[in-house]
Amino acid sequence: MGELQLPSIELLEKKLPEWILFEKLLADLESIGRVHVLGVTSSAHHQLPLIAMSFGSQDPKAPVLALFGGVHGLERIGSQVVLALMRSFSELLLWDQLLQDALSKLRVVFFPMVNPLGIMNMRRANPNGVDLMRNSPITALEKPTFLVGGHLISPKLPWYRGHNGMEPESQALIQLCKEQFFESSAVVTVDFHSGFGTQDRLWFPYAKTREPFPHLPEMYALSEKFERTFPNHFYRIEPQAKNYTTHGDLWDYLYDEYMKTNSGTYLSLTLEMGSWMWVRKNPLQLFSSLGPYHPIKPHRQKRILRRHITLFDFLVRTVISHSSWSSLSSEQRNKNKDRAYDLWYPHLEKK
Ligand SMILES: [Zn+2]
Repeated sequence: MGELQLPSIELLEKKLPEWILFEKLLADLESIGRVHVLGVTSSAHHQLPLIAMSFGSQDPKAPVLALFGGVHGLERIGSQVVLALMRSFSELLLWDQLLQDALSKLRVVFFPMVNPLGIMNMRRANPNGVDLMRNSPITALEKPTFLVGGHLISPKLPWYRGHNGMEPESQALIQLCKEQFFESSAVVTVDFHSGFGTQDRLWFPYAKTREPFPHLPEMYALSEKFERTFPNHFYRIEPQAKNYTTHGDLWDYLYDEYMKTNSGTYLSLTLEMGSWMWVRKNPLQLFSSLGPYHPIKPHRQKRILRRHITLFDFLVRTVISHSSWSSLSSEQRNKNKDRAYDLWYPHLEKK
């Protein structure tokens, strides 16, 4: 690590204060969690290590909840939300016996800044101009929208897939997931983004096709549980491809890889925080450098940082008590599949 050309403290304070907060958390939590250094991201001027942290059971088969943020550098609010959740979680670990007991059976993983130099440079892409969410080797099964769905034309255009295989940030993400949950029988991951639409959306796979993914019945079970437990929640839960399909989604890739070797249940969620509602309340924001992806006003930022606490709490509990959605009887699976088709795929013929 001593060899890295780290940005100066002054630069970090100005352009990447999240990193300073993260380093403090890492130092504070060293004794109760495990730090995973997964690689290095480099631009022409700077380098930063790619770091995640995990807590709880080290049994490879233990159920896992994992949170990710900052894949798209412009959407730094995602990193801030994950850091805020990580901080509350670690405070709870100091005194909350329920959580302490639960962690003997459960693993919780945080990777708050997948693309830290993208955040620092205020760019969606990584320093090589690659959109990490278009960077996996997955090819969409249905032709995606031109450019937005991922392309190989030029790193100067957004949504560029990259010509050199997996980027360091993608490799770090994949390595972490393989190490932390590829042997687990019940997994939920949430990747925090912002920028699409006016409502907070929880998307489930796939991005590559409008066809349902194999764990649709389990996804329905989890969703139904959320609706029943928190009927006033504000998320719209839906398949990602209902909005658009893309090439190269990293979560599609990880899901398919998991399914090759594991007969367990993996629900890979993407939280798209509806940032257009922030713009509607503050139209001048369109002209700021972060544009429509980030809430500028401090009170709005605070509100968003606490907005997802209920979801996180729910997910911790459902991952601990996973058998109610991860090991359904075949009768229940068929019933859920029927209902899920009615809810999310009314135009498709049931298979
Ligand atoms: Zn995004």
